[in-house]
This record gives sequence, C-alpha cells and structure tokens, in this order.
Amino acid sequence: MTRTSLACLALLCILPSALLCILPSRLSAQAAPHELPEWRRHGVCYEVFVRSFQDSDGDGVGDLRGLIGKLDYINDGDPATTTDLGATCIWLMPIAQSPSYHGYDVTNYYEVNRDYGTNEDFKLLIAEAERRGIHVIVDLVLNHMSSEHPIFRSALLDPASPWRDWFLWSPAPRPAPGWEAPVWHRAGSRDEYYYGLFWGGMPDYNLANAAATAKLRDVARFWLEVMGAAGFRIDAVGHFFEGPAGEWKHDARAHPWLRDYAAYVRSVAPAAFTIGEVWDGIDAIRPYYPDQLDSYFMFEVADGLVNAVRSGSAAQLVAAVTKAQRELPRGRWSPFLRNHDQTRTMTEFGGHVPRARLAATLLLTLPGFPFLYYGEELGMTGDKPDPRLRTPMHWTLDRTAGFTHAALPWEPLQPDSFTANVAVQHSDPESLLNHHRRLIRLRAATPALGATGDFIPLDTGSDGVVAYLRRDGGQTVLVIANLGEQRVAGQTLASTDAVLPAGRYTTRPLLGRAAPVALHVGDDGSIQGWVPVPTLEPFEAYVLELAR
Ligand code: CA
Repeated sequence: MTRTSLACLALLCILPSALLCILPSRLSAQAAPHELPEWRRHGVCYEVFVRSFQDSDGDGVGDLRGLIGKLDYINDGDPATTTDLGATCIWLMPIAQSPSYHGYDVTNYYEVNRDYGTNEDFKLLIAEAERRGIHVIVDLVLNHMSSEHPIFRSALLDPASPWRDWFLWSPAPRPAPGWEAPVWHRAGSRDEYYYGLFWGGMPDYNLANAAATAKLRDVARFWLEVMGAAGFRIDAVGHFFEGPAGEWKHDARAHPWLRDYAAYVRSVAPAAFTIGEVWDGIDAIRPYYPDQLDSYFMFEVADGLVNAVRSGSAAQLVAAVTKAQRELPRGRWSPFLRNHDQTRTMTEFGGHVPRARLAATLLLTLPGFPFLYYGEELGMTGDKPDPRLRTPMHWTLDRTAGFTHAALPWEPLQPDSFTANVAVQHSDPESLLNHHRRLIRLRAATPALGATGDFIPLDTGSDGVVAYLRRDGGQTVLVIANLGEQRVAGQTLASTDAVLPAGRYTTRPLLGRAAPVALHVGDDGSIQGWVPVPTLEPFEAYVLELAR
C-alpha cells in the first residue's frame, strides 16, 4: 500500500465519508511522522519543578545538583533495568534568574537562578542527562519579563529610555473583555499604564518591536548553543500579541512571529524541539500549525481523559483524541493529565488509586508525545493555591521525605508523603510508580503505541467501556478499559469501517493477564461481535497485541 492509501484507510475508519475528499490532501501536506526522532516517537517527557525535586546543599530548596543526583530515577540509561521511569525527556520549569519562587518572571535570561545553582551546574546536568538518553528542554518565557528586570526598570523610570517601545503603554487602563484581572498597571507615579496580562510583576513584551524580538532570539541561541538545551517549552504562546479592542488571546500577528522564531531556533539547532503552551481547545490551536512550533500541549485531550476516568464516560476522551488525530499533524501534539497549573490527578480522583492507574494506562497508550508532571507517577495530591500544586517530591520515609537535609523544605510536604512515596512504591510491584515504569517501557518497545500511529476507536455499545486500536509499523494493538465501578462481562467490540486486513488473529497480552482469544476479520475488514476478554473488573484495562 502507498502511504496515501494507508492514510485513506485510517481516515475511513474514523470519518464520515463526506469528509474524505477534503482531508487526505491536508493530511499529506502536513504529515512528516517519519521525521520524528525516536525519543519523541516512543518516549515520554517528565516535567520537573527544580525547586521541589531534590535539595543537594541543605537550604531547603531543590537545585540542579539535586536533580543530577536523581537522574537515575528518571532514566538510568540502561534499557535492561526496570527500576527507572524510562523518560527520554525532561521539561524544566523556568530556571533563569527570577525574584519569584516559580520563575515565570525573569530578571536575567542568561543566568541560572542562584537558588538552583550555576550555569556550570546546568551544563553538567546536560552532560549527565545525555549519557542517559534524556533530552532536557527548558521553559522559555517570551510573553513577558519581570518588572524588576533592568530593561523594564529603565523603560518604566525614563520615558526616553531606548527600551520604552519594548512594552505597551496607555494613558488610561483599558478593558480586556473576558479577562478577570486588571491588565493595565500604573507606571509608578506617572499618569500612565503598562500592559501585564498576568500580573503587574510581569509586563508583557511588545513583540512587534524588532529589538525586543532580536533579544529573545538571542536568548534561544544562548540556551541551545552555549548551555546545550535540547529545546524549549514556550510559555503563554496564545497571548503574544494584544488585539485593538483589548483581545488577549490568539491575535493573528502571533503566527508570523512564531514562524520566524521557530525558523531561527532551527537555524541555530536543527534538531531542537519546541512545544508551546496554548491553553485552549483544538480549534483554537489549529492555526498554530503547521509551520510554527513543533508541537503544542493538547488541553482538550487532557480534560477529556481526566473527565472520562472521573465520570466513567468515554465520549469526551474519544472525541478529543479523534479530533486531534484528524486535524493536527501526526505526532506533533502532546497528551498529558495535569501540569503545574492544575489540580493534581489524584486530587481530581478523590484519592481513588484504581482511577489514577487507569488514567495512566490511557495516557501512555494514546498517540502524541506524552508529558508527565513529577509526582503524578506516585499519585501525589495537590490543589490550589499554586504552591500546593508544586510541593516537594516524596523520596523516602524520613521527616522531609528525603527531599532536603534542612529542618524544613521551602514548602510543606503533602499529607500523603508516606504513601505517595518513591521508597514505599519502589518495592511494591503493583504500585502506581511501577505501573508507570511498565507502561513507559511498553510504549518504548511497542511500535503501534508510538506518537505517530493510528488511533481507531471501536464501538463498545457502552459509554462506560473504551476500546481503541493503535496501529503503526505493521503492528496492531487493542486497548480496552472499563471506566466504571461495575464489573463488565462479555463486552463485544465492533468497527463500522474496515480496520484490519481479513483473516484470523490471536491476541497476546502486553498489559494485564488475559488468555489468548481469536478474532476473525471478515472480507470487508471490519470487526464484529468480538469479545477480546471475558470480563473487565472495575477500572481494569488491557493492552493486547493482535497477530495473524
Ligand atoms: Ca538547595
């Protein structure tokens, strides 16, 4: 089969035929799945808040040397061991100089936050990560800087400052329809206001200013060329330009700006990876493809996934993934459960471990390049305010959970530090941690589960059971899961379209203990009345390979 006919087969499975004449051309124009490197095609990215991961020098604050000491937990570089997570990537939340604990207001883009160490420590991290096959991407804040940055101080204090046009000024505050907080902030004692969407401490750049843009390009060059980062997670991409009537998201000027910026990044480091935060649905994110950043976080899939597992209804998850697969370039979007801005998954599930296990199984068998927020693999809890979403990691059973030698960590631990704990879960084969380790390893070893493979939902006749085929590289696997609290017996699966070549298949369990079951695919290529497993316990999931 040609690639086009394969693509048509994939589309036949998931689309009303009326759309078929439109979509294949779009798909072929955007498809470049074979260019995705292995670390993104079959790997997983682990989001780390350095302040909360591991403190090496006893000041109660996590640091880069602490993270280096824990790299073997993330990936020890030896494919034969099963005692590491096996992540191929780390996203570091901001590590540049900043007066805040979170770091999203930068005062010096060229220097590692002194709380976290030095630029040399970062270079050592890169060397140690590379040895283990871990690619380190850093958070890049291009929407705004800190109000304490010398450039903004100059612009604020001196109307003749050469940096004045790097920011947005107004003689009076103006409304930003639909945004709750004030966005215009008084400029000292002057009768003048500057624009800072998130907070007065974060004045937005005027990205129409060529000098500001050149400066931000140079920041990317520095982290790629001098520091050795593998790429960037780019913050607040949906808010780069403000519209004439105070619109605060998706101004069209962002697209040429991002196109140029991404081209510059590639000119410095052709293999660099860029992933943007556009906190919105798939329709809103589509215009940020195909020629801007490499990838974007898929919030619609994340919400669909968490809601499906919480509510026991698969519809929202299947719809979101199907839409992402249909409308976005293959492999160039990222599913996740939760990030540092959101209530942690286990808290969403009210401490219900089987739901957390199921959510992990679904996340790590979806297409796209999945991201995992630190501590989620343990089921750490956490709810707003923000610092409580970003609390210290629980390593051991000592007083500070092995995070620090100081009397107190920078932020108090969560009350679940004795159970959502690496030492405890490491030695329990059935723990959530070991479940994550198995799934990440399975994803790496199973071509069909890769980022660019097909996602073909099957008809279960019940919203409480989700089933989908993943298909790539000549391999097909079935994922089937019971989202509900009741045992399900004799669940049948069907497809409305041709999904497999005709013939007899048998199953082989890759996850879950199940006896092999035969599947007969008829001449029309469809699946009808197939019972792949006799029963599904509440929140139970299977991953089965199909072989002819
Ligand atoms: Ca420290």
